Amino acid sequence: SPSVYDAIVIGAGAAGLFCAGVAGQLGVKVLLVDHAPKVGEKIRISGGGRCNFTNRELDPRAPHRHFLGGNPQFCRSALSRYTAGDFIDLVRRHGIAFHEKHKGQLFGDRSSEDFIRLLLAECGAGGVEHWQPCRVEAVRREGERYAVDTDRGTVHTPRVVVATGGLSIPQIGASDFGHRLARQFGLDLVEPRPALVPLTFGGEAWQPYAQLAGLALPVRIATGEKKAAMAFDEDLLFTHRGLSGPAVLQISSYWTPGTPIRVDLAPGSDVAQLLAQAKLRSRKLLANELAAIVPARLADAWTQQDPGWQRPVNEAADKALGALAQGLARWELLPTGTEGYRKAEVTAGGIDTRMLSQQTMESRQSGLYFIGEVVDVTGWLGGYNFQWAWASGWACGQALAAA
Ligand code: FAD
Repeated sequence: SPSVYDAIVIGAGAAGLFCAGVAGQLGVKVLLVDHAPKVGEKIRISGGGRCNFTNRELDPRAPHRHFLGGNPQFCRSALSRYTAGDFIDLVRRHGIAFHEKHKGQLFGDRSSEDFIRLLLAECGAGGVEHWQPCRVEAVRREGERYAVDTDRGTVHTPRVVVATGGLSIPQIGASDFGHRLARQFGLDLVEPRPALVPLTFGGEAWQPYAQLAGLALPVRIATGEKKAAMAFDEDLLFTHRGLSGPAVLQISSYWTPGTPIRVDLAPGSDVAQLLAQAKLRSRKLLANELAAIVPARLADAWTQQDPGWQRPVNEAADKALGALAQGLARWELLPTGTEGYRKAEVTAGGIDTRMLSQQTMESRQSGLYFIGEVVDVTGWLGGYNFQWAWASGWACGQALAAA
């Protein structure tokens, strides 16, 4: 049978919806399929329901500053051709109000639904047909074309775009479809792993901190050694099972199992000097003096760890004060693991970028494209993952129109 569609996009998330709209508006006849009953579920829950849709600090000339993966330079071309500014213009054209929160992060004022509507309107303008829920059972090569078997029948097309995302949050439709398809066509994968994910700390050693669940404070967090060292200044959140908050989510992407993370719980303060001064003028309990530097709950829990710290500051030994200051500034912890895909915001790893063209996102298997999170490109927390979805979707959409 003749090809009814010029391209089939599998996965109606951020990257798939955007790519379909771009290509459709350039005259490509696109079918978009998704197995979930609703499109864009991850957009819906993103950014606490407000969608952190991009980041003003993204510098396309230096992608390694905000992206990781086997080759962070891979995303340079797409990020330069479709920038944060381009997406901001689109958001303005749709009349969506937004604001900057923190470190260049842009959020919608109202609801992430606004962004799903934007994407659907762009698809509508491009005459994109969408089928959902629609299960894709197989993708087969038939001569120059692909046959895509779905639960609504088989469709033929010269080009298939895989935009099925990562493995995170399986309860709203994530699947390993893209990874399986890559294997089927002999494309290399970088082993997937949860990223932007809370870290867990088990056993006895965690007991003193378990009581701190719910406490948040600004910290400097680091992992890795020498050239591979990475650090972030962000908020840390104590949870019942371990640590979370932006600081831990960011560092988790760089963390190697079996290695420690280091936390400065009082960044920017010279705790040793402050305690030495307090010793000269105060008779308050050490915990009370410490509460001027870190949150009181942390000061209490921390000083409970050593009898030498449970006394008035003027009676504490210099050595005990020194050890306290040192411990707070260089708290070293060995995570037992992560909260896994159930809690991870993204999946690191995925389609090896050496298998893909950085201009078009087409793989070595001609006519088969991969975009968005399914690719081994992972952004920092803060809107970088959506910008990758938009930029890779745009690059692919252009390529579909030129093909
Ligand atoms: P997705 O958006 O995940 O879309 C994949 C689509 O493919 C889904 O619709 C899915 O149903 C479909 N699919 C999967 N398997 C199949 C299959 N076998 N057949 C058919 N369809 C299939 N990033 C940011 O930049 N800013 C944020 O504020 C932000 N907040 C987040 C909050 C949470 C809780 C989570 C989990 C993630 C957040 N992210 C955020 C990350 C961001 O959501 C993803 O990186 C982005 O959605 C990836 O886009 P994608 O199109 O590649 O994949």
